[in-house]
Amino acid sequence: MSRIEIKNAKKVFGDTTVIPNLSVSIPEGTLFTLLGPSGCGKTTLLRMIAGFNTIEGGDFYFGNERINDQDPSKRNIGMVFQNYAIFPHLSVGDNVAFGLKQRKMDRTKIKKQVEKHLQLIQMNEYWDRKPENLSGGQQQRVALARSLAINPDVLLMDEPLSNLDAKLRLDMRQVIREIQREIGITTVYVTHDQEEAMAISDLIAVMRDGEIQQIGKPKELYHRPANEFVASFIGRTNILEGELVQDNGQAILKMQHGRIIKMPLLNHVEPQKVRVSIRPEEFIRTENKEAISARILESIYLGLNTEYFLVLETGEKVQMIEESMFTEDLNPGDQIYLDININKINVFTENGVRNLLEVGS
Ligand code: ATP
Repeated sequence: MSRIEIKNAKKVFGDTTVIPNLSVSIPEGTLFTLLGPSGCGKTTLLRMIAGFNTIEGGDFYFGNERINDQDPSKRNIGMVFQNYAIFPHLSVGDNVAFGLKQRKMDRTKIKKQVEKHLQLIQMNEYWDRKPENLSGGQQQRVALARSLAINPDVLLMDEPLSNLDAKLRLDMRQVIREIQREIGITTVYVTHDQEEAMAISDLIAVMRDGEIQQIGKPKELYHRPANEFVASFIGRTNILEGELVQDNGQAILKMQHGRIIKMPLLNHVEPQKVRVSIRPEEFIRTENKEAISARILESIYLGLNTEYFLVLETGEKVQMIEESMFTEDLNPGDQIYLDININKINVFTENGVRNLLEVGS
């Protein structure tokens, strides 16, 4: 098991710098996810860790060992890709044994190791099956067992669930999470699916254009996103313009809709124009007619929750979500009043690049 340390990594393809200068420290034993939109450089970084991409700058360490110039086969990594990559002509058992045979392990030991790993993925009875007779989820479990059988120091997974259907994806998240915890292997997991990242990760690094925007636990990223990009990428949010003013040492947020909100957490912050991030569940319906007035444009019943598309008096459009009520029926055109859960909202600088509220507040 290894901690992974990356210092000032740089990746260039031809004339294009895809990763300008990236540093990250991945603690031993964690499931660490690289999350970001398509093309942000997740796979590129993972391939640099694996040794499949050249490194144009920076230092990569597994534990204390610098691996920049180490051959991929010497790095002792397990890899799982989205397209299973298990050998169709080999049985399940032979697939799992593959890396061990390459390492010339003796036959009794190989048998034990395969047994152990088929047990881990709960597929002992499939030892002799060919991959064509397995479901996608089972194939992906075999790929996982094969990559773990060699006792790697580090496990790398690139969108391992994206070829599976929605229901199976949820089950497989759980399988991966449980197995990773059981073995405690340092794992770097790539996905563009924020919900998957939240469900599976100890830590998430949100990437954009080859740069890390924020690293944190799923809850930290959702609750206190470092900037507007993270706020919008992790979950959904409404961004409204506002102004932060100071009145006798008290921070007050003035919003376009005339609502004034006391923000004690910002008492020390200089007056400035801001962008206020309010998640759909941070609007709370009230009977108070002094509150923010909104009109319903559309409502979508989702079972547990109902989602509303609203327009405020200012013309700003927002989304709100609340638990569905069996008896209540709000319709397009209805007038409602909203409060804001001020403990949860986030306030960004006018350019959206910094949260004025600190993580942990
Ligand atoms: P996705 O989720 O779509 O896989 P990603 O975040 O993994 O996206 P990368 O595959 O790392 O993104 O690609 C980052 C950028 O580098 C993209 O602009 C891509 O076009 C470019 N790129 C990746 N591999 C190469 C290559 N071999 N040659 C040239 N450009 C490349």
